[in-house]
Amino acid sequence: MFSFEITAQSSDTSARAGVIQTSHGKVETPIFMPVGTLGSVKSISPEELIEIGAQIILGNTYHLYLRPGCDIISRFEGLHRFMHWNRSILTDSGGFQVFSLAKLAKISNDGVTFQSHIDGSKHLLSPEKVIDIQACLGTDIMMCLDQCIQYPASREQCRAALKTTTQWARRCRHSWQSLQNGQNALFGIVQGGMFTDLRRQSAEELTDLDFSGYAVGGLSVGEPVEVMLEMADFTLPQLPQIKPRYIMGVGTPENLIELVALGADMFDCVLPTRNARNGQMFIDHGTINISNSRYKDDTDPLDPECGCYTCRNYSRAYLRHLYLAKELLAYRLNTIHNIHFYINFIKRLRKAILVDAFEAFRQDFYHKRKK
Ligand SMILES: [Zn+2]
Repeated sequence: MFSFEITAQSSDTSARAGVIQTSHGKVETPIFMPVGTLGSVKSISPEELIEIGAQIILGNTYHLYLRPGCDIISRFEGLHRFMHWNRSILTDSGGFQVFSLAKLAKISNDGVTFQSHIDGSKHLLSPEKVIDIQACLGTDIMMCLDQCIQYPASREQCRAALKTTTQWARRCRHSWQSLQNGQNALFGIVQGGMFTDLRRQSAEELTDLDFSGYAVGGLSVGEPVEVMLEMADFTLPQLPQIKPRYIMGVGTPENLIELVALGADMFDCVLPTRNARNGQMFIDHGTINISNSRYKDDTDPLDPECGCYTCRNYSRAYLRHLYLAKELLAYRLNTIHNIHFYINFIKRLRKAILVDAFEAFRQDFYHKRKK
């Protein structure tokens, strides 16, 4: 059921527009995937996501495996029905959370053992188990288990993690193939730290395994933005041009536009949802901190040019009041706007690629930011 077609290619950058087809519909790339860690995009409903125009969301394998667990989700034949979301879902493999959130993560021949951050219980995630869990979740795009490392990391640490990541990718692919249901795609994840030769090696080894798509992991982990872009610029051309290319966990609107220029197709990031809950709102000209006293009697919408539900109906003064009073509605209205901004921003960017006007769009974007 999974396919990817490139429909337009920018003539002066590597930006491209395409369409991914999954068993739950079309995903137009470049695409931004809102993060639904625990089976919900925090504070908004699937209906609101659909109204905003979300085509695919991301779920977290590590979190859903620990709570509520596969035995419960399998009663609903997967995450789609459990959370009442009919469009595409991508799940990460849990690798990132095991190495960043869980306690005492320890690598063995089988996989990685760790203690749950919730109750301290002991678990083993192996490449095979990660595929089983994602099959139980019924996700449209699965990710391979990878070994994530902290930044900065030595060359030796990066080399060792890369070796493990390739071995796990091979086992994930084998396990995925034996599912034989043809419903889900499987993406490999490029690691290699901030070393170009290791990134190249990782990309080559994964390309040989022939995945449905490829992700670049281990970016935006604390390195300077220039280094992140340099690594993406180096790694993206090493991956097959005809496959979707996903930069994991990045980033700001500036990051997104630069990464699209380098040929990236898919993104996810907690920035729009997390910052909405902290009162930071994204607009074309930059960001607005809604708690600022200058908005206390401001009758204008957050962004007069935005067509989202929040901006159509509410003023800055009201949003500021809700936020300062810690009213629950503040989280919902702020999140609706920020997710709308990200999805609409990528949509406008895609439109520009389709008429080969990406560079003009990029210049206009930075021009507005400078104002
Ligand atoms: Zn809005």
